[in-house]
Amino acid sequence: MTVVHDKLYIDGGWVDPATDRRIEAINATTEEPLGSVPEASEADVDRAVQAARRAFDDSGWSTLPAADRAAVINRFADAVEKRTEQLTRTVSLQNGMPISLAQAMEGGYGVALLRYYAALAAASERVERRPSPLGFDTLVQRNPVGVVGAIVPWNYPVVLAITKIGPALAAGCTIVIKPSPGTVLDGFVLAEAADEAGIPAGVINWVPGGRELGAYLVQHPGIDKVAFTGSTAAGRIIAENCGRLMRPVSLELGGKSAALILDDADLNKVTEGLFFASLANNGQTCMACTRILAPSNRYDEVVDAISAWMGNLKVGDPLDPSTEVGPLASSEHRDRVEGLIAKGRGEGARLALGGGRPAGINRGWYVEPTLFADVDNSSTIATQEIFGPVLSVIKYDSDDDAVKIANESDYGLGGTVWSSDPERAIAIADRVQTGTIGVNGYVVDLNAPFGGVKQSGLGREFGPEAISGYQQLKSIYLPG
Ligand code: NAD
Repeated sequence: MTVVHDKLYIDGGWVDPATDRRIEAINATTEEPLGSVPEASEADVDRAVQAARRAFDDSGWSTLPAADRAAVINRFADAVEKRTEQLTRTVSLQNGMPISLAQAMEGGYGVALLRYYAALAAASERVERRPSPLGFDTLVQRNPVGVVGAIVPWNYPVVLAITKIGPALAAGCTIVIKPSPGTVLDGFVLAEAADEAGIPAGVINWVPGGRELGAYLVQHPGIDKVAFTGSTAAGRIIAENCGRLMRPVSLELGGKSAALILDDADLNKVTEGLFFASLANNGQTCMACTRILAPSNRYDEVVDAISAWMGNLKVGDPLDPSTEVGPLASSEHRDRVEGLIAKGRGEGARLALGGGRPAGINRGWYVEPTLFADVDNSSTIATQEIFGPVLSVIKYDSDDDAVKIANESDYGLGGTVWSSDPERAIAIADRVQTGTIGVNGYVVDLNAPFGGVKQSGLGREFGPEAISGYQQLKSIYLPG
């Protein structure tokens, strides 16, 4: 059964789109149509931004007592929770995410994140009276920045939208979200939840469309802040536009993170933990540790252990709860991943596992779990984000050498250190240039800042720190 939507969710209601252009959603596993939605046009973005502007300037939303705003966010969380099965299935069908991961990330994690920001909103004080060493007091205000233009990618479409909605609403902002054309159906489920939760009109609006529409939203005169998650290439263009407009922007971009396997690591624990750290969502994860750094004195052992583990991963239908690796999100994306695998072979890396399409699966955009060994850290597959189930093992000689290789990257988003001595691992983690890093595992903590250094981005999401990205500080001096 295909899902067909005819209206857009703007200004607290379902409205007719300005044009009859549509976006088709395709099933990543069967390559068959899943449904379609209206493609928003510039006129729809104008309408959405105006609604968000009105809601921010005139509706009282931005000055609502924090506890009341928290209650609205909690109602939204309840309405999203009721729809987690529908949401997780919708994501899995569109982008091939294994359903077990979808349930954890696109379902449970998203709801937990909304409740977390509701609690932070309830506990927050907008104004702090701060004594000055100069002998008077100052009122320091944390005011909502205004109307947010949020742009999200297709890999974790629900949780990445919620990552912006939660802190934006907690701060008192209103928001216009542009989902990726690669995953358009889930936004409609979230909009139904917003509608049921009675989110005030104009506070959240959805405008599905492509990069041109995103560029239009970024530069729209009614937008006060841009929150972007996506590729470094797009992030750079968005940052340039925001720089010209002097518009605040946060950027969550790509990565090429390293897993530093120290010479005392327990390889059973490594392969257990690398599943999430390196291959979550079929490798379509921004912070995936795709460069595996192996000590020269255990090099063959590491390559063999990882190859054996990856060779046993269950590749199949993402809706099957036992599936570990599903298809990639689109045929164009698979072409890109296959192109990079060919490049790896051409540049002299040794193919230790995979490299092709899985045997016995005749449809769906699958790529075999693929492992390259003897990879040069300056080669294409070690420097470019592949965004598929493809890992590269790179040899190092000493801890210093491992840190140096890890840091020889344009990116700095995730990372892991594996060792049976946690103190030693923490000391190494401290030296890796990255925004986040895990010791003997990797989990994104919703209570701690997440984001990148270098070309992986600007700003932080998650944790209380995320809210400050949606606030403007203002000081009222009281010297008189
Ligand atoms: P993408 O950059 O092609 O697109 C992301 C979103 O931006 C889409 O909605 C797209 O329509 C829009 N867009 C593209 N160009 C734009 C422009 N010039 N102006 C405005 N909007 C524009 O990325 P993708 O292929 O959808 O997603 C994968 C990328 O996202 C990977 O690089 C991945 O690492 C990154 N990502 C980062 C994080 C993080 O938290 N750092 C999380 C998930 C994904």
